[in-house]
Amino acid sequence: MRPTFIRKSASELRVPPNLPRPAEREAPLSVQAARHALAGLPGGGLNIAYEAVDRHAAGPRANHPAFRWLCRNDAEQIFTYDDLALLSNRFANVLNSLGVGKGAGVFVLCGRIPELYVAVLGALKNGCVVSPLFAAFGPEPIATRIALGAGRVLVTTDTLYARKVAKVMHALPTLKHVLLVGEGGATTDIPGTLDLRRLMDAAADGFDIVPTAAEDPALLHFTSGTTGTPKGAIHVHDAAVMHYMTGKYALDFHPEDIFWCTADPGWVTGTSYGIIAPLLHGVTSIIDEADFDAERWYRILQDHEVTVWYTAPTAIRMLMKAGTELARKYRFPDLRFIASVGEPLNPEAVWWGQEVLGLPIHDNWWQTETGGIMIANTPAMDIKPGSMGRPLPGVEAIIVRHEDNGAVTVIDVPDVEGELALKRGWPSMFRGYLNQEERYRKCFAGDLYLTGDLARRDADGYFWFVGRADDVIKSAGHLIGPFEVESALMEHPAVAEAGVIGKPDEIVGEVVKAFVSLKKGYEAGDALRLELLGHARKRLGAAVAPKEIAFVASLPRTRSGKIMRRLLKARELGLPEGDTSTLEGGA
Ligand code: AMP
Repeated sequence: MRPTFIRKSASELRVPPNLPRPAEREAPLSVQAARHALAGLPGGGLNIAYEAVDRHAAGPRANHPAFRWLCRNDAEQIFTYDDLALLSNRFANVLNSLGVGKGAGVFVLCGRIPELYVAVLGALKNGCVVSPLFAAFGPEPIATRIALGAGRVLVTTDTLYARKVAKVMHALPTLKHVLLVGEGGATTDIPGTLDLRRLMDAAADGFDIVPTAAEDPALLHFTSGTTGTPKGAIHVHDAAVMHYMTGKYALDFHPEDIFWCTADPGWVTGTSYGIIAPLLHGVTSIIDEADFDAERWYRILQDHEVTVWYTAPTAIRMLMKAGTELARKYRFPDLRFIASVGEPLNPEAVWWGQEVLGLPIHDNWWQTETGGIMIANTPAMDIKPGSMGRPLPGVEAIIVRHEDNGAVTVIDVPDVEGELALKRGWPSMFRGYLNQEERYRKCFAGDLYLTGDLARRDADGYFWFVGRADDVIKSAGHLIGPFEVESALMEHPAVAEAGVIGKPDEIVGEVVKAFVSLKKGYEAGDALRLELLGHARKRLGAAVAPKEIAFVASLPRTRSGKIMRRLLKARELGLPEGDTSTLEGGA
């Protein structure tokens, strides 16, 4: 049997960790001190892009590579901090020349191409509120989010525009400017859009950052709930303080690191840690345009001498599936720290890292609303495989009992399950759900933010993930709202009602499964199943659409008419049905 701990000894760590073991450390950086580690805008205020880029471009790291961009076809391009400063200035000037100013919503829908990163940083310099969208979304999730965020500008590629955006433009009256990147370097001439490269070429190199205060909105990240529309979590420039602290402690950045965050910036991890945190520390990041491929990933880790790697459980399980032999063809002498986030990391995967890559995988926990890592296994900590780790400095995590009537009481004994709560006030905490005040208010009880996750804390202060308190689905690390999927299915003329659940899956955690009842005159069968799968995929995109559809005569509902997804799931898994007293027609 394997031990419950992976013990760390100081001599095994190749560089002294930024956060030593508790017994050895002086008080770690306070939030206040971390704020002082950032420069602040020359005229006062705080701007993420200034801290991430211009601060370094004006100092000794100007010529240090910020991004090493790996193109799908293996071509490679280096962007130094100086390059990024110039390109983001130009993009800010492009926005300015279009009359787009402070507070305007700028959406970015691109694969991992350089323009995405330049647009995010340039828009931040211009005081805009940036919202990166996942390129694998279909037209509906894209349109819903741009409409909710009242987007003024969209940066996308000519291909994505033609495939996904053109058909929903009529539903986006606030969208005044569509800036297109021609794929393969081509210029674009699509009516109603502008060619971004041409605009960039004509733009000036210098830009005075629009003064932003620490509390000014900077990023809008959409996340999904059980019901209703997606929620736009608002983050402010002060979030950079937490990105800096967590980069230092949870990812242990040191100046010469080569860092690779595999998350797409369309999700919060890819923005906070694929763009902001490594730049704040002046380190070099790898950006890979291509999708997952086991062999390619091992090659990148080896050939690019990656030292710190931040990835996700689904990717690790896919590497495990690709086999140990493949991994053994490569050597990773530079790799010194591996972290993972986004879904439960099974102990098997932690051990696989130790045995096959020579390093355990360090799980950490956070969510869109927290803006940055909250609970982590840091390099110096002993790991308990299966645990998310312990709260970072500046974070107070608590387990609470959250009653149906809203009452919240703190559980201060170890090993009792409850909802994970955080003491409010850390700098990257979301400041609201855009235009959804009531939903935001409901996330708090006094000075506690309620995360919606169930967890327990053990006697050593380690936190263990138990599950979600709601019905949202986590598939390949991506949060999917069942309501969004159900709504798209209901748009098909054959569908009377739809209920969507996450069905456990060994590799991606959960796959989206839909239960559908049909309107009179339609017949269940493989042909209709395929048609519905295709319909959902076209509207929602591959990342969100269901992978399985089952036909049922009717869906279980509560007496008040809500679909009982919990019951659908219990039935699917052959588990006890639990309390069905609210079931329509039930006891
Ligand atoms: P998102 O807001 O899309 O980043 O998703 C956040 C959710 O992902 C959390 O509320 C958890 O349900 C889940 N999650 C994130 N990190 C972990 C982890 N280390 N272990 C288990 N679940 C996680």
